[in-house]
Amino acid sequence: METAEKRILNSGTTDPNKILPMKYTWARTHYKAGVANNWTPDEVNMQKDVETWKNPAALSEDERRLIMWNMGFFSTAESLTANNLVLTIYKHITNPECRQYLLRQAYEEAVHTDTFIYCCDTLGLDPDDVYTMYERIPSIKHKDEFVVNMTKSIFDPNFTTEGTENIQRFVHDLVGFYIIMEGIFFYAGFVMMLSFLRQNKMVGIGEQFQFILRDESVHLAFGADLINTIVQENPEIWTPQFKTTITENIKRGVELESAYSHDCLPNGILGLNAHVIDDYLKYIADRRLERIGLAKVYGTENPFPWMSEIIDLKKEKNFFETRVTEYKNAGSLKW
Ligand code: FE
Ligand code: MN
Repeated sequence: METAEKRILNSGTTDPNKILPMKYTWARTHYKAGVANNWTPDEVNMQKDVETWKNPAALSEDERRLIMWNMGFFSTAESLTANNLVLTIYKHITNPECRQYLLRQAYEEAVHTDTFIYCCDTLGLDPDDVYTMYERIPSIKHKDEFVVNMTKSIFDPNFTTEGTENIQRFVHDLVGFYIIMEGIFFYAGFVMMLSFLRQNKMVGIGEQFQFILRDESVHLAFGADLINTIVQENPEIWTPQFKTTITENIKRGVELESAYSHDCLPNGILGLNAHVIDDYLKYIADRRLERIGLAKVYGTENPFPWMSEIIDLKKEKNFFETRVTEYKNAGSLKW
């Protein structure tokens, strides 16, 4: 079969085992980027974090709350992401180069789940406390419920991607999964935990989050390319009404993430407060909207340009040197 006939959805003639010749080279590019970022949590030394965590005077109550809330959200969200990926998305995406990427992504989600096992183990956190927060803490629970509802229809064993309505349903769920869960719901946590790193506190966890952030930014890029290609191949789904629905869902995602960050961060600490995080969430939501061909809605400036620098860092770069440079910048700014 000619590569030109390859389609992402409903390509009855696509052999999922025949990856060459390749049509969707972006899937290959993201696969390579994932492999270039390879890491495991136990490469990161947690000794200083353990000392800080166990010293009652080393962290304020607000700082401890912020860390625990993020442990609570991420520890279970990574498994939720992995399950959605292998149980629903993988089933409906039969294109072999996309599946190759999905397998890589599934492995990365396993590494992320392992990261939170490692953090709980090294810091001596109570797993019954951490792993029940997604049920006990309303702002975490609401985010997870939103994602579960978003991907409900494709969990239906009888769901197929045949027909305009079903393709819309599938794209709707992909937006929930890639754009909202991976592209918005992780980002208040990234900002908070990387702010610790920038202040040279809990640097082990901070570095783990830095690695996860770089993986997630590739997941998001793959998801956006996947969505855009499906829309390109099925232009009839992209109606004004459907675009409005997607935009409204993304706005709802921003609201839920904002509620979560206000809950994690009731008082300003680490040079952060929840209102500035709101501006950041709106800024990234605009970028996500534009990335999938929708009009931006907020128009806020990026209050954390250092976040983009961290995302663009390559694994080969010496993290320690990078941090030293950042401290110098921060120091000269304070002066
Ligand atoms: Fe992840
Ligand atoms: Mn991910």
